[in-house]
Amino acid sequence: MRYSRMLIPTVKEVPADAEITSHRLMIRAGLMRKVASGTYTYLPLGWRSLLKVIAIVREEMDKAGAQEILVPVMQPAELWDKTGRSTDYGPTLFRFTDRHGRESVLEPTAEEVVTYLAAGEINSYKQLPINLYQISPKFRDEFRPRFGVIRSREFIMKDAYSFDADPDGLDESYKLMYDAYCRIFKRCGLEYVIVEAESGEMGGSGSHQFTIPCESGEDTIIYTEDGSYAANLERAAVDPLPKEKSSVEVSPMQEVHTPNIGSIEAVCKFLQTKPEQMVKTLIYSTRDKTVAVIIRGDHDANEEKLRSAVGGKHIELADESTIEKVTGANVGFAGPVGIADKISKMIIDHAIAAMAVGVTGANKTDYHVKNVVPGRDFPLEGENVIVADIRYAVEGDTHNGKKLLFKKGIEVGQVFKLGTKYSKKLGAKFLDEKGKEAPCVMGCYGIGINRIVASAIELGNDKNGIIWPISIAPFEVLVTSVNQDDEQVANVAEDIYNQLLDSGVDVLLDDREFRGGVKFKDADLLGIPVQVTAGRKSVAKGNVEIKLRSESQSKKVPVEKAADATIELVNSLKEKLNP
Ligand code: ATP
Ligand code: MG
Repeated sequence: MRYSRMLIPTVKEVPADAEITSHRLMIRAGLMRKVASGTYTYLPLGWRSLLKVIAIVREEMDKAGAQEILVPVMQPAELWDKTGRSTDYGPTLFRFTDRHGRESVLEPTAEEVVTYLAAGEINSYKQLPINLYQISPKFRDEFRPRFGVIRSREFIMKDAYSFDADPDGLDESYKLMYDAYCRIFKRCGLEYVIVEAESGEMGGSGSHQFTIPCESGEDTIIYTEDGSYAANLERAAVDPLPKEKSSVEVSPMQEVHTPNIGSIEAVCKFLQTKPEQMVKTLIYSTRDKTVAVIIRGDHDANEEKLRSAVGGKHIELADESTIEKVTGANVGFAGPVGIADKISKMIIDHAIAAMAVGVTGANKTDYHVKNVVPGRDFPLEGENVIVADIRYAVEGDTHNGKKLLFKKGIEVGQVFKLGTKYSKKLGAKFLDEKGKEAPCVMGCYGIGINRIVASAIELGNDKNGIIWPISIAPFEVLVTSVNQDDEQVANVAEDIYNQLLDSGVDVLLDDREFRGGVKFKDADLLGIPVQVTAGRKSVAKGNVEIKLRSESQSKKVPVEKAADATIELVNSLKEKLNP
């Protein structure tokens, strides 16, 4: 391709909403342009990169035995009603009504439609296992689209769905995908970490996320230094804290008047205490039960962990009237003392059980109680009382005795063991060897194609622009004719360009009639990994310069050897990513 003929609108200025490096560089290097909140048009360079990612993903999926299909983006809401996800997905699900009054959704993912397909086409164990995938646009009405294509409202996802006869089969299918993901991210030139994740509302039994550690990530990776443990924030399990010892016998509980003082902050100020000495009581509801959650004032309840504590049921904060009914007080004055009899279950965090003494709500409007001793003043065991890990990990926590460390990351992919939630609800059943009917055991596996491109830029850049991994760069080589008005220079560049093209190298020729300075700036901004530069001075001596975008030193190479040297360099870069 010739630069002079391509649409590569590089710019200096970036819009104010471009908060992170990859977003800024994708605009500046002319990879994409915003159309509306969370939607982008990919220009030729951006699209070339995406296509390269797609090709790698497709190759590895096919190698792992998955089969590519394509399901409609527009899907009947009826299928989503059947699995309950038309409500569970919440406002993130795009829905609309057509002229006949039929409800549709725009796919945010495709468990429903693919399981529906399986229900119709799979009927015998002989057809299993099977793994079907697609690479297509997905839609999510994100509350806050941001970071360019990292959190957008329309994006390209590879989503795969495996169907097995039993849980062992699922384990195998899962492993195949897990390994394929490792190869995909490696080939895309990304340093990734694999973290344990919750399968949450997906309804499954195990999950891993593939995350790219970087400052601008929205996810938190929690890990131990020795690498023996890594999990995301929802999942990271913490050790119980050591039991605090009180040097003196704690006096009996004492009620204190705290008029209109309900928040942890306000109570602490008023009573001269610290959040870690507060016993916070949150009232939650499952579909049919009320649950009291007791947690330290400086900790946050982790709803994924709470969900597990109530046997995987949906759980959410109770509404005001439920809270008032259960506690007999206005919101802000709930406490654990005497509450066990009024609710179905009391779930107490380990950190509370480890406390010597605390302050808490009195279950009486405008009152708190001091000198509350867990175990003495409210139960730490009993028929409806459990002590569990129900909070988010914080700095200072340990896992299996090892200190937990925190870092930010971008989730680029996730794999789930789904089990039979979808197959049961949508009737994806098969006859086993004995002729008995059973639901398929499913897994699902997603990759954010656009996020791979953005993450690669987050990892590979300097003040001058992008530094692409060769595998997903829009071009492998940029040949620059520095003095396009000089026939000899232009011819040398043209010649090398043609030789590279003939050898199957993906090459861009900068044949624009611009000053050298402008071309060099663009070259660094675009970040094409191998730069071959033909300038008047070196060409006069029979040389061109070859340089890697990632390095500062260039090498003089005789014109007639330039193409071969470039090809060798390209191959060695590729080899590193795909040995
Ligand atoms: P997140 O937690 O970041 O919202 P998710 O866990 O909901 O993502 P999945 O349902 O696991 O996402 O989707 C599979 C992949 O699709 C993700 O790993 C991510 O790479 C990509 N993805 C999800 N949401 C978006 C989005 N709004 N914009 C771009 N890519 C996305
Ligand atoms: Mg995910």
